Amino acid sequence: MGSRKEFYRDTWAEVNLDAIAHNIKHMAKITGQKTGIMAVVKANAYGHGYVQVAETALSNGATHLAVAFLDEALFLRRQGITAPIVVLGASRPQNAGLAAEENVQLTVFTKEWIQEAGNYLSDGQQIRIHIKCDTGMGRLGVKTTDELIRLENEIEKNSAIHIEGIYTHFATADEVNRKYADEQINRFKLFVDALKQKPELIHASNSAAAFMRKDSLFSIIRFGISMYGLSPSSEIADLLPVTLEPALSLYTTIVQVKKVSPGDKISYGATYEAKEHEWIATLPVGYADGWIRKMQGFKVLVDGNRVPIVGRVCMDQCMIRLPKEYPIGTKVTLFGGENGHVLPMDEVADHLETINYEVACAVSARVPRVYHKNNESFFVLNPLV
Ligand SMILES: *Cc1c(COP(=O)(O)O)cnc(C)c1O
Repeated sequence: MGSRKEFYRDTWAEVNLDAIAHNIKHMAKITGQKTGIMAVVKANAYGHGYVQVAETALSNGATHLAVAFLDEALFLRRQGITAPIVVLGASRPQNAGLAAEENVQLTVFTKEWIQEAGNYLSDGQQIRIHIKCDTGMGRLGVKTTDELIRLENEIEKNSAIHIEGIYTHFATADEVNRKYADEQINRFKLFVDALKQKPELIHASNSAAAFMRKDSLFSIIRFGISMYGLSPSSEIADLLPVTLEPALSLYTTIVQVKKVSPGDKISYGATYEAKEHEWIATLPVGYADGWIRKMQGFKVLVDGNRVPIVGRVCMDQCMIRLPKEYPIGTKVTLFGGENGHVLPMDEVADHLETINYEVACAVSARVPRVYHKNNESFFVLNPLV
């Protein structure tokens, strides 16, 4: 990683770190002085790059980082990130000592975990944990205040385990209808009140909740999708109180252009047949890059025009039909873009009948990332954990 001076493929992602800085600063205006920002950088920072996003977030107002798994936290530590990191997913109690040693905070939701973890912490080690409450997401967390109290009692017996936080996660914060999230907040408050001692961090909000409801801010928010400049859902996209700047773009380049005749077939299965004399171009991007087979039929951006992907998307390549001949080397925007030539990632998500989160995460490790920051650029190859 990072040692090469250039890369040799004509498909790349661009990540505008200034956009991420902008999005965090605008969120900080909404959260205000009393509420901190935990930057969610799981899944290679939603495809944007763990370390680059973590550093940008921390230097623009975030105090904490969050990831899904311990391995991701350890990767950040190896890359020199020293800020507090919270693992939001489940971790094994057997890894409590490792987490303590690396100063990584874990999520806990059973008293059995506490009992077991005690066996794996050596003398003098301290681990910070966050208690997860299931207030309606049905994923991870204690379900009742009785369970919570038993868990707190168990933790009190072990001075090596410190309750740093308590939190919950919304199932419907990205919907206009507020009722279900209202109920989740009420339940969460009962959990918080049931604790004998208030932990340092009480948190509930994802991006959507942070934008849509002041009553869910508590002491810190977990800022994911909108830090990357994307709306948590199309339903609330027009209701967001800030203008987000999308950070991720995906580009490729025409590597061959040919004029085909009526009846000529394109790609595997020979499913596309030219109706007339057509200009067909080959792009060096395919499903191994996250540009999946269902992208067939989608219109990408060439020279300000939307042109269709024709025939099946292959592992490493796909074909488009051009309105006229374009030279080899012509830049093609798959999503994102700049200077008025923009193809929103949400259109890719709509085409795939999914959400922007999945599109961003799908950009695979094979795609080089080019970063922009303060008019400087650099690139990273294969950002793997
Ligand atoms: C991924 C995640 C987040 C971030 O949510 P966004 O909608 O991306 O802001 C917050 N909390 C938990 C528990 C998560 O898993």
